[in-house]
Amino acid sequence: MCPRDARAPIQYSLSMEPTNKAKLMDGRALAQRVHAAAADKVRKILGATGVTPCLATVLVGSDPASVTYTRMKRKRCLDAGMLPKRIELPLGTTTAQLVDEITKLAEDQSVHGILVQHPVPKPIDKRAAFEAIPIEKDVDGVASATLGRVILGMPAWASCTPAGIMRLLDEYSVELDGVHAMVIGRSPILGRPMASMLINRHATVTLCHSRTRGLPSLVRHADVIIAAVGKPKFVKGGWIKVGAVVIDAGYNEGNVGDVDFDGAIEPASLITPVPGGVGPMTIATLIDQTAEAAAQQVGVEL
Ligand code: NAP
Repeated sequence: MCPRDARAPIQYSLSMEPTNKAKLMDGRALAQRVHAAAADKVRKILGATGVTPCLATVLVGSDPASVTYTRMKRKRCLDAGMLPKRIELPLGTTTAQLVDEITKLAEDQSVHGILVQHPVPKPIDKRAAFEAIPIEKDVDGVASATLGRVILGMPAWASCTPAGIMRLLDEYSVELDGVHAMVIGRSPILGRPMASMLINRHATVTLCHSRTRGLPSLVRHADVIIAAVGKPKFVKGGWIKVGAVVIDAGYNEGNVGDVDFDGAIEPASLITPVPGGVGPMTIATLIDQTAEAAAQQVGVEL
């Protein structure tokens, strides 16, 4: 963990509260570097094989947020020199039809990564759709086989948000070995893989969820806090131990995270802003993982 002594030293006395503010973890800057590295990989693959890495995104319906996210991914693909392939299916598409489309992409050798934009409309069995993605093309880390590999610390294209968070933690040299990390949220795409990645790096992990009792007092023991709750300003500054590293994965309406940033910036040593922290790392990780997946599929060593 990056403790307070990574910044200007603070003189503590019994009567004095620390007044230092946390250093911001700049996800935008790191994401730019990851994008640039991914673009280099794409150039190398193209030069060696003539193949352009391709990410297929599958969108069912026209939920405005999902439309925006798929557009952003398309733009980032193009920026990195990759081919974006867009599959748009109407609302009313059945699970079988969606699985059929994904199976075609799985069999298409010109497609190297498959992303099913979620949430998918309610009647669709999201899990069935995710399971249709073969692990070598599961660049968004959603299939159960991928999650199993992540849990076991085996090579896999992990879910992009937790994988992006790990890159940020490493960028800021946050020590994980032996520290107490707390993950708030247990979703299959965020909290669960996040907890596994931290365990694999030898953190002692507490995974909290909506049934957790006494959450504030548990958070007070954490050296590293990952908030992935989906509730604006849910984690309060008063819950946070002085010097803790605070990662806010939340992204709520009005560009608000899951952490009360103004309250957390005083006790924390490092903190991710929203926007500009975890969000850019998620998409950068997706692009990078697609380039890596393409390299593996066409036999290029990067
Ligand atoms: P999710 O599937 O809705 O999961 C939310 C988790 O929070 C659940 O495990 C839930 O517990 C837990 N929770 C809810 N209320 C709680 C409470 N009062 N106390 C403790 N835990 C509570 O959400 P998600 O997909 O993991 O996303 C979480 C957040 O990350 C959202 O803000 C989302 O927008 C954001 N996100 C950001 C990115 C990005 O790229 N920046 C990507 C994905 C998600 P139960 O399991 O008990 O219901």
